[in-house]
Amino acid sequence: MKVVRFHAPGDIRFEDVAEPEAGPGEVKIRVRNCSTCGTDVKISKFGHHHIHPPRVMGHEIAGEIVALGDGVEGWAEGDRVQVIAAIPCGKCDECKRGRMTICPNQESMGYHYEGGFAQFMVVPAKVLAVDGLNRIPEGVSFAEASVAEPLACVLNGQELARVGEGDDVVVVGSGPIGCLHVRLAKARGAARVFLVDLNRARLDMAADLVKPDLAIAGEEVDVVKAVLDATDGRGADVVITAAASGAAQEQALQMVARQGRISFFGGLPKDKPTVTVDSNLVHYRELTIVGANGSSPAHNAEALRLIATGAVPVADLITHRLPLDSAIDAFGIVARGEAIKVTIEP
Ligand SMILES: [Zn+2]
Ligand SMILES: [Zn+2]
Repeated sequence: MKVVRFHAPGDIRFEDVAEPEAGPGEVKIRVRNCSTCGTDVKISKFGHHHIHPPRVMGHEIAGEIVALGDGVEGWAEGDRVQVIAAIPCGKCDECKRGRMTICPNQESMGYHYEGGFAQFMVVPAKVLAVDGLNRIPEGVSFAEASVAEPLACVLNGQELARVGEGDDVVVVGSGPIGCLHVRLAKARGAARVFLVDLNRARLDMAADLVKPDLAIAGEEVDVVKAVLDATDGRGADVVITAAASGAAQEQALQMVARQGRISFFGGLPKDKPTVTVDSNLVHYRELTIVGANGSSPAHNAEALRLIATGAVPVADLITHRLPLDSAIDAFGIVARGEAIKVTIEP
């Protein structure tokens, strides 16, 4: 079968490998869609310390079951399924407390296990053990289902930042994750959502699709002032930074309302992980700063429900559909910010 494998930074190959077989407790799927994101670009350029090459990449996975390993119950050939990306152990103290996104033993598809840029893939027994294989609801396409994983991460972020009824929400970063944040915030009852991006062209492409109440181009105006003006000087109830930008995180402190919540949703580059925080702003204004690390199996299941009910539409966010042999081109499209969501159809 054909796969897209990481061999070394800058060395990604479209190549032939033997088809995998489902072992005990495992399920083999025919991959129908595996979507790409900024993480794939990062891996292709820099590798990752959890990836021991060669490794099939791809972690936003949807497909159909073609074979069941020994002992697998409740599933049948032909079932349409979505696969979690981050695999919690299910046994540690955090997992037992229901905090599966911060499991210290977490493993990932496309890192520790072969990923979805392949014609066939084996779903590890560990995924099934934590309910990480989800049935795709009727009416949801494989392509839409592949976007459930990033939406699950967005859902985790907004739960932690307590996005809810009546909130004014700022989303910084208009990539696919930013677009999902805009849609989900609206679905959770936000009063207004402001979308911010440095780059006007990128912002316009996203704003055309997700229709924020206000689109703010950082290259043209002072973002903090624009948010304060739009909120009569009060600031936003929630600011979500969906960009790898320390400057955006620092600006968030300046444009959040009293008792506001800030989500450092996007991580910062490893070599530049520090920002300056005016601790007195946090203290006197009773601010909350939260992080976000991936998603739990339950978040993935809920994301599929949000897509199925139409609460968070994702079909129109999929702007590019490419065959497996174009996955490497897809990383370029993602890196240059020319697309919202690029999905690979092996
Ligand atoms: Zn991703
Ligand atoms: Zn755990």
